Amino acid sequence: MKSIPYGHQWIDKDDIKEVVKVLKSDWLTQGPKIEEFEKDIAKYCKTKYAVAVSSGTSALYLAYKVAGINYGDEVITTPLTFAATANTIFFCNAKPVFVDIEEDTKNIDSKEIEKKITKKTKAIVTVDFAGHPCDYDQIKKIAKKHKLLLIQDACHALGAEYKGKKIGNFVDMTVLSFHPVKHITTGEGGMILTNNKNFYEKLKILRSHGIVKKPEKGGWYYEIENPCFNFRISDIQCALGISQLKKIDKFLKRRREIAKIYNQAFENIKEIITPIQKDYSKSAWHLYVVEILGNGRRKFFEKLRKAGILVQVHYIPLHLQPFYQKRFGYKPGDFPIAEKYYERALTLPLFPKMTNTEINRVISVVKKQCLRQKINLK
Ligand SMILES: *Cc1c(COP(=O)(O)O)cnc(C)c1O
Repeated sequence: MKSIPYGHQWIDKDDIKEVVKVLKSDWLTQGPKIEEFEKDIAKYCKTKYAVAVSSGTSALYLAYKVAGINYGDEVITTPLTFAATANTIFFCNAKPVFVDIEEDTKNIDSKEIEKKITKKTKAIVTVDFAGHPCDYDQIKKIAKKHKLLLIQDACHALGAEYKGKKIGNFVDMTVLSFHPVKHITTGEGGMILTNNKNFYEKLKILRSHGIVKKPEKGGWYYEIENPCFNFRISDIQCALGISQLKKIDKFLKRRREIAKIYNQAFENIKEIITPIQKDYSKSAWHLYVVEILGNGRRKFFEKLRKAGILVQVHYIPLHLQPFYQKRFGYKPGDFPIAEKYYERALTLPLFPKMTNTEINRVISVVKKQCLRQKINLK
Protein backbone atom coordinates (compact mmCIF):
# COMPACT_ATOMS: atom_id res chain seq x y z
CA MET A 1 0.00 0.00 0.00
CA LYS A 2 1.18 3.50 -0.85
CA SER A 3 2.39 5.53 2.11
CA ILE A 4 0.63 8.73 3.12
CA PRO A 5 2.93 11.76 3.63
CA TYR A 6 2.17 14.39 6.28
CA GLY A 7 1.88 17.06 3.60
CA HIS A 8 1.78 17.14 -0.17
CA GLN A 9 1.19 19.52 -3.07
CA TRP A 10 -1.79 19.38 -5.42
CA ILE A 11 -0.77 20.13 -9.00
CA ASP A 12 -3.37 19.92 -11.76
CA LYS A 13 -3.49 20.31 -15.55
CA ASP A 14 -4.04 24.08 -15.36
CA ASP A 15 -0.91 24.51 -13.24
CA ILE A 16 1.13 22.57 -15.78
CA LYS A 17 -0.34 24.53 -18.70
CA GLU A 18 0.58 27.86 -17.08
CA VAL A 19 4.16 26.75 -16.39
CA VAL A 20 4.62 25.45 -19.94
CA LYS A 21 3.39 28.81 -21.30
CA VAL A 22 6.18 30.59 -19.43
CA LEU A 23 8.75 28.05 -20.64
CA LYS A 24 7.79 28.99 -24.20
CA SER A 25 7.90 32.73 -23.48
CA ASP A 26 10.77 35.21 -23.49
CA TRP A 27 10.97 35.54 -19.72
CA LEU A 28 12.06 32.63 -17.53
CA THR A 29 13.01 35.04 -14.75
CA GLN A 30 12.78 38.80 -14.04
CA GLY A 31 9.70 38.95 -16.27
CA PRO A 32 6.02 39.92 -15.85
CA LYS A 33 4.81 36.86 -13.90
CA ILE A 34 6.57 37.99 -10.74
CA GLU A 35 4.63 41.21 -10.35
CA GLU A 36 1.43 39.45 -11.37
CA PHE A 37 1.90 36.88 -8.60
CA GLU A 38 2.75 39.61 -6.09
CA LYS A 39 -0.38 41.58 -7.04
CA ASP A 40 -2.59 38.49 -6.77
CA ILE A 41 -1.35 37.60 -3.28
CA ALA A 42 -1.50 41.23 -2.14
CA LYS A 43 -5.10 41.38 -3.28
CA TYR A 44 -5.97 38.10 -1.58
CA CYS A 45 -4.40 39.23 1.71
CA LYS A 46 -5.60 42.85 1.29
CA THR A 47 -2.05 44.13 1.65
CA LYS A 48 -0.58 47.13 -0.18
CA TYR A 49 2.75 45.61 -1.16
CA ALA A 50 4.19 42.15 -1.77
CA VAL A 51 7.70 41.07 -2.74
CA ALA A 52 8.20 37.53 -4.03
CA VAL A 53 11.53 35.84 -3.33
CA SER A 54 13.29 32.48 -3.62
CA SER A 55 12.06 30.94 -0.35
CA GLY A 56 10.36 31.59 2.97
CA THR A 57 13.82 31.60 4.52
CA SER A 58 15.07 34.37 2.25
CA ALA A 59 11.83 36.28 2.88
CA LEU A 60 12.51 36.14 6.64
CA TYR A 61 16.12 37.24 6.19
CA LEU A 62 15.12 40.18 3.98
CA ALA A 63 12.32 41.24 6.34
CA TYR A 64 14.83 41.33 9.22
CA LYS A 65 17.35 43.22 7.08
CA VAL A 66 14.93 46.00 6.12
CA ALA A 67 13.70 46.10 9.73
CA GLY A 68 17.28 47.15 10.51
CA ILE A 69 18.09 44.12 12.66
CA ASN A 70 21.82 44.20 13.09
CA TYR A 71 24.84 43.43 15.23
CA GLY A 72 24.02 43.27 18.95
CA ASP A 73 20.25 43.43 18.53
CA GLU A 74 17.83 41.05 20.19
CA VAL A 75 14.77 39.61 18.50
CA ILE A 76 12.00 37.97 20.49
CA THR A 77 10.50 34.82 19.03
CA THR A 78 9.19 31.34 19.82
CA PRO A 79 11.38 28.25 20.20
CA LEU A 80 8.62 26.18 18.58
CA THR A 81 9.24 26.88 14.93
CA PHE A 82 11.19 25.74 11.91
CA ALA A 83 14.87 26.60 12.23
CA ALA A 84 14.66 29.26 9.50
CA THR A 85 12.81 31.73 11.77
CA ALA A 86 15.75 31.99 14.16
CA ASN A 87 18.68 30.99 11.91
CA THR A 88 18.01 34.13 9.87
CA ILE A 89 18.09 36.23 13.06
CA PHE A 90 21.55 34.81 13.67
CA PHE A 91 22.57 35.67 10.11
CA CYS A 92 21.69 39.31 10.89
CA ASN A 93 24.27 39.03 13.72
CA ALA A 94 21.46 39.36 16.24
CA LYS A 95 20.34 37.15 19.10
CA PRO A 96 17.10 35.17 19.04
CA VAL A 97 15.50 35.63 22.48
CA PHE A 98 13.01 32.84 22.98
CA VAL A 99 9.77 33.09 24.91
CA ASP A 100 7.89 29.94 25.93
CA ILE A 101 4.64 28.93 24.21
CA GLU A 102 1.02 28.88 25.33
CA GLU A 103 -0.07 25.42 26.38
CA ASP A 104 -3.24 25.50 24.26
CA THR A 105 -2.39 27.25 20.98
CA LYS A 106 1.36 26.42 21.00
CA ASN A 107 1.97 30.02 19.91
CA ILE A 108 4.32 32.43 21.67
CA ASP A 109 2.89 33.33 25.09
CA SER A 110 2.10 37.04 24.85
CA LYS A 111 1.99 37.29 28.66
CA GLU A 112 5.68 36.34 28.81
CA ILE A 113 6.99 38.68 26.11
CA GLU A 114 7.45 41.85 28.16
CA LYS A 115 9.71 40.08 30.66
CA LYS A 116 12.23 39.49 27.86
CA ILE A 117 12.30 43.01 26.43
CA THR A 118 15.59 44.87 26.96
CA LYS A 119 17.22 48.00 25.51
CA LYS A 120 18.62 45.78 22.76
CA THR A 121 15.27 44.38 21.64
CA LYS A 122 14.45 45.42 18.11
CA ALA A 123 11.55 43.26 16.99
CA ILE A 124 9.06 40.56 17.87
CA VAL A 125 8.72 37.69 15.40
CA THR A 126 5.55 35.64 15.77
CA VAL A 127 4.85 32.26 14.23
CA ASP A 128 1.23 31.22 13.65
CA PHE A 129 1.90 27.64 14.66
CA ALA A 130 0.17 25.00 12.52
CA GLY A 131 -1.85 27.79 10.90
CA HIS A 132 -3.48 29.15 14.09
CA PRO A 133 -2.92 32.94 14.32
CA CYS A 134 -1.38 34.35 17.48
CA ASP A 135 -3.40 36.75 19.62
CA TYR A 136 -2.38 39.83 17.65
CA ASP A 137 -4.32 42.45 19.63
CA GLN A 138 -2.25 41.54 22.69
CA ILE A 139 1.07 41.31 20.85
CA LYS A 140 0.53 44.53 18.89
CA LYS A 141 -0.13 46.38 22.14
CA ILE A 142 3.24 45.25 23.49
CA ALA A 143 5.06 46.08 20.24
CA LYS A 144 3.55 49.55 20.19
CA LYS A 145 4.27 50.26 23.84
CA HIS A 146 7.96 49.34 23.45
CA LYS A 147 8.32 50.69 19.88
CA LEU A 148 9.25 47.29 18.46
CA LEU A 149 8.64 46.08 14.95
CA LEU A 150 6.27 43.16 14.61
CA ILE A 151 7.15 40.57 11.98
CA GLN A 152 4.87 37.61 11.40
CA ASP A 153 6.27 34.33 10.16
CA ALA A 154 3.03 33.20 8.53
CA CYS A 155 4.58 30.31 6.63
CA HIS A 156 1.92 28.09 8.24
CA ALA A 157 -0.92 30.51 7.90
CA LEU A 158 -1.76 31.71 4.38
CA GLY A 159 -5.55 32.18 4.40
CA ALA A 160 -5.90 32.03 8.20
CA GLU A 161 -8.05 34.68 9.90
CA TYR A 162 -7.67 36.66 13.09
CA LYS A 163 -10.92 38.18 14.38
CA GLY A 164 -12.43 37.90 10.92
CA LYS A 165 -9.46 39.46 9.12
CA LYS A 166 -7.18 37.51 6.79
CA ILE A 167 -3.56 37.47 7.90
CA GLY A 168 -1.16 39.65 5.94
CA ASN A 169 -2.11 43.24 6.63
CA PHE A 170 -2.09 43.96 10.34
CA VAL A 171 1.60 43.75 11.31
CA ASP A 172 4.73 45.46 9.95
CA MET A 173 5.70 42.56 7.71
CA THR A 174 4.22 39.14 7.05
CA VAL A 175 6.30 36.30 5.61
CA LEU A 176 4.98 33.42 3.51
CA SER A 177 6.52 30.22 2.12
CA PHE A 178 5.48 28.34 -1.00
CA HIS A 179 7.26 25.06 -0.27
CA PRO A 180 5.19 22.08 -1.53
CA VAL A 181 3.89 21.20 1.95
CA LYS A 182 2.50 24.71 2.46
CA HIS A 183 -0.92 26.00 1.35
CA ILE A 184 0.07 26.83 -2.22
CA THR A 185 3.36 26.02 -3.88
CA THR A 186 5.88 27.41 -6.35
CA GLY A 187 8.31 24.51 -5.77
CA GLU A 188 10.52 26.76 -3.68
CA GLY A 189 9.44 30.32 -3.00
CA GLY A 190 8.44 32.91 -0.46
CA MET A 191 7.01 36.39 -0.05
CA ILE A 192 7.03 39.42 2.20
CA LEU A 193 3.79 41.38 2.63
CA THR A 194 3.76 44.93 4.00
CA ASN A 195 1.79 48.18 3.97
CA ASN A 196 5.02 50.15 4.43
CA LYS A 197 6.30 51.69 1.20
CA ASN A 198 9.80 52.23 2.54
CA PHE A 199 10.13 48.56 3.47
CA TYR A 200 8.72 47.58 0.09
CA GLU A 201 11.25 49.61 -1.87
CA LYS A 202 14.18 48.34 0.19
CA LEU A 203 13.01 44.74 -0.14
CA LYS A 204 12.95 44.99 -3.92
CA ILE A 205 16.52 46.31 -3.97
CA LEU A 206 17.88 43.71 -1.54
CA ARG A 207 16.18 40.85 -3.38
CA SER A 208 18.60 41.40 -6.24
CA HIS A 209 22.13 41.99 -4.83
CA GLY A 210 21.32 45.44 -3.43
CA ILE A 211 21.50 46.92 -6.93
CA VAL A 212 20.00 50.44 -7.31
CA LYS A 213 19.61 51.53 -10.93
CA LYS A 214 20.49 55.17 -11.67
CA PRO A 215 19.35 55.72 -15.29
CA GLU A 216 20.05 59.45 -15.06
CA LYS A 217 23.75 58.52 -15.02
CA GLY A 218 23.44 56.20 -18.01
CA GLY A 219 21.31 53.22 -19.04
CA TRP A 220 23.87 50.76 -17.73
CA TYR A 221 24.57 52.52 -14.46
CA TYR A 222 23.77 51.19 -11.01
CA GLU A 223 25.07 51.57 -7.49
CA ILE A 224 25.34 49.23 -4.54
CA GLU A 225 25.03 50.70 -1.08
CA ASN A 226 24.06 47.55 0.79
CA PRO A 227 25.28 44.33 -0.84
CA CYS A 228 22.95 41.37 -0.66
CA PHE A 229 22.37 37.98 -2.29
CA ASN A 230 20.38 36.84 -5.29
CA PHE A 231 17.06 36.00 -3.62
CA ARG A 232 14.97 36.22 -6.79
CA ILE A 233 12.16 33.86 -7.71
CA SER A 234 11.63 32.88 -11.36
CA ASP A 235 8.68 33.52 -13.70
CA ILE A 236 8.32 29.75 -14.06
CA GLN A 237 7.69 29.50 -10.32
CA CYS A 238 5.40 32.53 -10.20
CA ALA A 239 3.23 31.16 -13.03
CA LEU A 240 2.70 28.09 -10.87
CA GLY A 241 1.95 30.29 -7.86
CA ILE A 242 -0.64 32.36 -9.77
CA SER A 243 -2.40 29.21 -10.90
CA GLN A 244 -2.23 27.66 -7.41
CA LEU A 245 -3.67 30.75 -5.73
CA LYS A 246 -6.83 30.39 -7.82
CA LYS A 247 -7.51 27.22 -5.84
CA ILE A 248 -6.68 28.49 -2.35
CA ASP A 249 -10.32 28.54 -1.19
CA LYS A 250 -10.80 24.93 -2.23
CA PHE A 251 -7.51 23.94 -0.54
CA LEU A 252 -8.39 25.70 2.72
CA LYS A 253 -11.90 24.28 2.78
CA ARG A 254 -10.55 20.76 2.45
CA ARG A 255 -7.88 21.32 5.12
CA ARG A 256 -10.56 22.52 7.53
CA GLU A 257 -12.79 19.59 6.65
CA ILE A 258 -10.05 17.06 7.36
CA ALA A 259 -9.20 18.71 10.70
CA LYS A 260 -12.84 18.44 11.69
CA ILE A 261 -13.00 14.76 10.73
CA TYR A 262 -9.86 14.06 12.80
CA ASN A 263 -11.18 16.07 15.77
CA GLN A 264 -14.36 14.01 15.82
CA ALA A 265 -12.55 10.71 15.33
CA PHE A 266 -10.17 11.27 18.25
CA GLU A 267 -12.62 13.05 20.56
CA ASN A 268 -13.15 10.02 22.78
CA ILE A 269 -9.56 8.91 23.10
CA LYS A 270 -8.60 10.21 26.50
CA GLU A 271 -4.87 10.15 26.03
CA ILE A 272 -4.71 11.88 22.71
CA ILE A 273 -4.95 15.66 22.93
CA THR A 274 -6.36 17.13 19.72
CA PRO A 275 -5.52 20.68 18.58
CA ILE A 276 -7.78 23.52 19.66
CA GLN A 277 -8.98 26.63 17.89
CA LYS A 278 -9.54 29.85 19.82
CA ASP A 279 -12.62 32.01 19.17
CA TYR A 280 -10.47 34.77 17.75
CA SER A 281 -8.97 32.60 15.05
CA LYS A 282 -9.83 30.63 11.99
CA SER A 283 -6.87 28.33 11.43
CA ALA A 284 -5.43 27.58 8.00
CA TRP A 285 -4.57 24.06 9.28
CA HIS A 286 -1.10 23.72 7.83
CA LEU A 287 -0.45 20.95 10.35
CA TYR A 288 -2.62 18.65 12.42
CA VAL A 289 -0.63 17.93 15.57
CA VAL A 290 -1.86 15.63 18.32
CA GLU A 291 -0.19 15.05 21.66
CA ILE A 292 0.26 11.47 22.80
CA LEU A 293 0.19 11.24 26.58
CA GLY A 294 1.99 8.66 28.72
CA ASN A 295 5.45 8.53 27.14
CA GLY A 296 4.14 6.62 24.15
CA ARG A 297 5.02 9.05 21.38
CA ARG A 298 8.18 7.40 20.07
CA LYS A 299 6.59 3.99 19.80
CA PHE A 300 3.52 5.55 18.23
CA PHE A 301 5.70 7.37 15.69
CA GLU A 302 7.59 4.24 14.74
CA LYS A 303 4.51 2.02 14.43
CA LEU A 304 2.67 4.56 12.31
CA ARG A 305 5.67 5.01 10.03
CA LYS A 306 5.85 1.24 9.65
CA ALA A 307 2.19 1.19 8.68
CA GLY A 308 2.91 3.71 5.91
CA ILE A 309 1.51 6.73 7.74
CA LEU A 310 4.41 9.16 7.39
CA VAL A 311 3.88 11.11 10.60
CA GLN A 312 6.34 13.84 11.60
CA VAL A 313 7.33 15.81 14.67
CA HIS A 314 7.04 19.60 14.44
CA TYR A 315 9.35 20.76 15.96
CA ILE A 316 12.34 20.06 18.16
CA PRO A 317 12.35 23.34 20.15
CA LEU A 318 15.17 25.47 18.77
CA HIS A 319 16.80 26.18 22.13
CA LEU A 320 17.64 22.46 22.36
CA GLN A 321 19.63 22.50 19.10
CA PRO A 322 23.38 22.18 19.73
CA PHE A 323 24.11 25.45 17.94
CA TYR A 324 21.64 27.47 20.00
CA GLN A 325 22.93 25.95 23.22
CA LYS A 326 26.56 26.61 22.37
CA ARG A 327 26.19 30.03 20.82
CA PHE A 328 23.48 31.59 22.99
CA GLY A 329 23.70 29.55 26.20
CA TYR A 330 20.27 27.98 26.07
CA LYS A 331 19.77 24.67 27.86
CA PRO A 332 17.15 21.97 28.44
CA GLY A 333 14.61 23.22 30.98
CA ASP A 334 14.60 26.80 29.72
CA PHE A 335 11.18 26.55 28.06
CA PRO A 336 9.28 23.80 29.87
CA ILE A 337 5.98 24.15 28.02
CA ALA A 338 7.61 23.85 24.61
CA GLU A 339 9.67 20.89 25.86
CA LYS A 340 6.68 19.07 27.32
CA TYR A 341 4.79 19.61 24.10
CA TYR A 342 7.75 18.32 22.08
CA GLU A 343 7.89 15.04 24.03
CA ARG A 344 4.28 14.33 23.05
CA ALA A 345 3.85 15.88 19.63
CA LEU A 346 2.95 13.94 16.51
CA THR A 347 1.89 15.44 13.18
CA LEU A 348 -0.68 13.39 11.29
CA PRO A 349 -1.07 13.65 7.50
CA LEU A 350 -3.18 16.58 6.37
CA PHE A 351 -3.19 17.94 2.82
CA PRO A 352 -6.03 18.97 0.49
CA LYS A 353 -5.52 16.14 -1.96
CA MET A 354 -6.00 13.48 0.73
CA THR A 355 -8.83 11.12 -0.15
CA ASN A 356 -11.50 9.99 2.32
CA THR A 357 -10.00 6.50 2.08
CA GLU A 358 -6.63 7.88 3.16
CA ILE A 359 -8.17 9.85 6.03
CA ASN A 360 -9.98 6.77 7.24
CA ARG A 361 -6.81 4.71 6.99
CA VAL A 362 -4.97 7.20 9.20
CA ILE A 363 -7.80 7.18 11.75
CA SER A 364 -8.00 3.41 11.82
CA VAL A 365 -4.21 2.94 12.22
CA VAL A 366 -4.13 5.56 15.01
CA LYS A 367 -7.00 3.88 16.86
CA LYS A 368 -5.44 0.45 16.48
CA GLN A 369 -2.15 1.73 17.84
CA CYS A 370 -3.96 3.26 20.82
CA LEU A 371 -5.37 -0.15 21.66
CA ARG A 372 -1.97 -1.80 21.26
CA GLN A 373 -0.31 0.73 23.53
CA LYS A 374 -3.31 0.58 25.87
CA ILE A 375 -3.27 4.35 25.86
CA ASN A 376 -6.97 4.87 25.67
CA LEU A 377 -7.47 3.18 29.02
CA LYS A 378 -7.07 5.53 31.93
C1 LIG B 1 8.42 26.49 5.84
C2 LIG B 1 8.78 27.45 6.90
C3 LIG B 1 9.81 28.39 6.76
C4 LIG B 1 10.79 28.40 5.62
O1 LIG B 1 10.26 28.39 4.38
P1 LIG B 1 11.11 27.82 3.14
O2 LIG B 1 10.27 28.30 1.99
O3 LIG B 1 11.16 26.35 3.26
O4 LIG B 1 12.44 28.47 3.17
C5 LIG B 1 10.00 29.31 7.77
N1 LIG B 1 9.25 29.30 8.89
C6 LIG B 1 8.28 28.40 9.07
C7 LIG B 1 7.47 28.45 10.32
C8 LIG B 1 8.02 27.43 8.10
O5 LIG B 1 7.09 26.51 8.31
